Amino acid sequence: MDVNIVMLGTAGSSPTKERSMPSIAIKYEGDLILFDCGESAQLQMLRYGVNFSKLKAIFISHAHGDHVIGVAGLVRTLGMNRRTEPLKIFIPKGYESVIKMLLSFDRALLEYSIEVIGVGSSGVVYKGNGYSIKSFKLKHSIPAYGYVFKEDDRRRFIVSKTAKLGIKGEMHSSIQKNGSLVIGKKTVKLEDVTSLVKGKKIAYAADTRPSSDTVKAAGDADLLIHESSYAEEDVELAKERMHSTAFEAATVAKKAKVKRLVLTHISARYSNVKKLEDDAKKAFKESRVASDGDNIIV
Ligand SMILES: [Zn+2]
Ligand SMILES: [Zn+2]
Repeated sequence: MDVNIVMLGTAGSSPTKERSMPSIAIKYEGDLILFDCGESAQLQMLRYGVNFSKLKAIFISHAHGDHVIGVAGLVRTLGMNRRTEPLKIFIPKGYESVIKMLLSFDRALLEYSIEVIGVGSSGVVYKGNGYSIKSFKLKHSIPAYGYVFKEDDRRRFIVSKTAKLGIKGEMHSSIQKNGSLVIGKKTVKLEDVTSLVKGKKIAYAADTRPSSDTVKAAGDADLLIHESSYAEEDVELAKERMHSTAFEAATVAKKAKVKRLVLTHISARYSNVKKLEDDAKKAFKESRVASDGDNIIV
């Protein structure tokens, strides 16, 4: 199935006229999730036609203001839209109180429940309908996690094989459920009559130095969205502030053998981002700098 990604905000640290604070919408089979929720995430959702009511969960990479402040406005708008469905918000463990403050500072009456979940290790943190979200450690100035959207793998019947063995009708669901099926005196295994269709994979590495954890988590992904705060000439600043250059992000993409790299979290100091894109392409050709509103289909 298609995974539809909308880059709601592609700035880092402070906004520009063209770039909003970090937030990414992922739409899959009627579900909506957000990776980070910077200031004006809700406005960007309206602007780019992302339907609030489908929102299932928000995954915050870390508690720096540029990635989290948008939660305050969004949850209130959802309340005013008479939401009843519960919402889950993930944030690195120890920072749950940041979200709770954003929810409660004005005693807003929210008539739906919000569950705040601390992420303290790498692994599956959320299971959706046909997909899962995994967290992985980033290397930043405060505890931070990246997230991987992974569509479930599927098995597709090979018609020539099923026809030959006389598998028809309900026998399909039976073999799918049990992993095998007895036909006459023969046991047919699911693997014998199906091929594996690998699910789509999208990895998001927010504020971080380049790291082997990201390489591992993003391995063979269809898309890696990696922060790229600086151009290579400012690599010392990137090291000092625990961010990445475009070239470093592209090196991660190359090592992880991803199909495509999209650079985000662009510092306001670069009015012309061509330099960042050129830097990245030196290490990994399929690199591109995101703009707000970009719609990427994987
Ligand atoms: Zn940031
Ligand atoms: Zn940060």
